[in-house]
Amino acid sequence: GCRIGVLALQGAVSEHMAQLAALGATAVAVKHVAQLEQLDGLILPGGESTTIGKLMRHYGFIEAIRQFAAEGKPLFGTCAGMILLAKAIEGDEPAHLGLMDIQVRRNAFGRQKQSFQTALYINGLSTPFPAVFIRAPYISKLLSDNVQILAEINGSPVLARQDNLLVCAFHPELSTDPRITALFLDGVRNRLEAQ
Ligand code: GLN
Repeated sequence: GCRIGVLALQGAVSEHMAQLAALGATAVAVKHVAQLEQLDGLILPGGESTTIGKLMRHYGFIEAIRQFAAEGKPLFGTCAGMILLAKAIEGDEPAHLGLMDIQVRRNAFGRQKQSFQTALYINGLSTPFPAVFIRAPYISKLLSDNVQILAEINGSPVLARQDNLLVCAFHPELSTDPRITALFLDGVRNRLEAQ
């Protein structure tokens, strides 16, 4: 089986762990950089990106996760995790990991729609995915041609991939439907088989 870490500094960690375990992966709550060594993939969960970013800097995760990504290991950023992976954040805020060629807009769906669930059409899935959005960002600009869009809402990308990086604006771990997490695990398993 494969070992998947969930960065456990702040945010929605336990639901990711449960969904990973249900899909046959070994889930690890990651609190120290040394734990990254034993992982085949890493999830950056939803939560508050400013808070998680601060804690990542404090505990040395910025350089460690950049190194993890440079080794080709798969990363999956969900909601705040997508913001953490982006090369640019709208406004004056500096990027955190700055790994993916996207610009994101935080809290992009406005006041009335702070939280909502929608049946989302996703490239490669035969039926819509029940996606839960909570004060969600979206991708407001692609910064290169290397980003593949897998789903969008009103023309704004909310699920995208670039090489070993997968991001979504919603919370896949809060749906009983495991297909998005399974999509990430497929990438992890394909990479392990190719080695
Ligand atoms: N609004 C949060 C942020 O900007 C993200 C919300 C979430 O992860 N559910 O960091």
